[in-house]
Amino acid sequence: MKAAEIMARLEQKYGHEKEYLQAVHEVLESIEEVYNQHPEFEKAKIVERIVEPDRIFTFRVTWVDDNGNVQTNLGYRVQFNSAIGPYKGGLRFHKAVTPSMLKFLGFEQTFKNALTTLPMGGAKGGSDFDPVGKSDAEIMRFCQAFMLELWNCIGPEQDVPAGDVGVGGREIGYLYGMYTKLARRYNVGVLTGKGANWGGSILRPEATGYGALYFTEHVLNRAGKQLAGSTIAISGFGNVAWGAAQKATALGAKVIAVSGPDGVCHVPAGLTNEMIDYMLVLRASNNNVVAPMAEKFEGVTFIPGKKAWSIKCDIALPCAFQNELNGDDAKELLANGTWCCCEVSNMGCTPEAIKAFQDAGILFAPGKAVNAGGVATSGLEMTQNAMHISWAGKEVDEKLHFIMESIHEACVKYGQRPDGTVDYVKGANIAGFMKVAQAMLEQGTI
Ligand code: GLU
Repeated sequence: MKAAEIMARLEQKYGHEKEYLQAVHEVLESIEEVYNQHPEFEKAKIVERIVEPDRIFTFRVTWVDDNGNVQTNLGYRVQFNSAIGPYKGGLRFHKAVTPSMLKFLGFEQTFKNALTTLPMGGAKGGSDFDPVGKSDAEIMRFCQAFMLELWNCIGPEQDVPAGDVGVGGREIGYLYGMYTKLARRYNVGVLTGKGANWGGSILRPEATGYGALYFTEHVLNRAGKQLAGSTIAISGFGNVAWGAAQKATALGAKVIAVSGPDGVCHVPAGLTNEMIDYMLVLRASNNNVVAPMAEKFEGVTFIPGKKAWSIKCDIALPCAFQNELNGDDAKELLANGTWCCCEVSNMGCTPEAIKAFQDAGILFAPGKAVNAGGVATSGLEMTQNAMHISWAGKEVDEKLHFIMESIHEACVKYGQRPDGTVDYVKGANIAGFMKVAQAMLEQGTI
């Protein structure tokens, strides 16, 4: 396989799908050498097959807003790859959602899920519905209308959606309620991220952020550095940022910045637990702004229009959206002495930013390894649902620890450079790819 030739073909076919092409390019570049050592992959045309989703459902979602106006959005489910298990991945509600965005996310999910050690295929879905400024009743009506189309495509052994940007516990509740009404099936395993009283796993809301910090600790410790005492800048203030801030603080680091689309809150003394809890209030308000934190708490300065990356910090944790940290941001961070960046959002850094970090020789790890604790805990939720039991938080946390350690080991195995340092991008991509490719090979040409 020649990565450049495959990319050229994909660019011709899907030229306008920028995020998808970016995600595929990163993986193909990483795996090319290893792939070419396996003629059986080439014979089975694994790479040509793995870059295309198994299928994409597209549907119209029509609902009525609070003013009685009829609204129409588009809904999607991209079932990307089922070689190692049922389709699994979140739903994203955001005004910028396109098939390209969901294809990139489904592609990433396939390799991320393979890294978790659990049998889950890759999928992603969502809608261009914009939750900003919507009332709770509008969110509910939209979720119900969305499920009216989706329910027939999913199932506990088929495809198990969960949350992502714009979809949290509240939305999963509305989606699940409508699913049971339509399907007359009461298997809680059809969605993950449910409420703890109706099949949800303890610790699922925290899991992405907690897992990210466990992974970051492994990265740091291997390089002889410490999380405790370090300063951290976090972008975003949603569920993922909240979990990351909580765990970083508990492990002795100082979270000195959180940001939103409106600007960044600088907290030189570090976020307090009250401030971390307040992130959830900000998220639930549907206003998508972080500025009110500075009005509510002493010691917080709001800087409008600035990103978290403008604040001097040791560690940068992008926790919001793809491509939220670009080449210029990376340069600014490096100039300020940042020595580690762990992507918590999916594809949070642009290729230019990753190159800048790697050229500077600082620690960098990609989203599909760092944030895999979220979907891994979804996998644990599926196991609990299938067994009709509920594990205590301690048990889930121990399993999450073990999974993050395994992912770190896999990255080291495939990503270690001759000088002993680790290319986590290469390591994560090869480890995930090998597992899916081997499964596809064993299951024949289908
Ligand atoms: N949306 C999350 C992710 O990007 C979680 C998916 C899930 O739990 O299925 O991995």
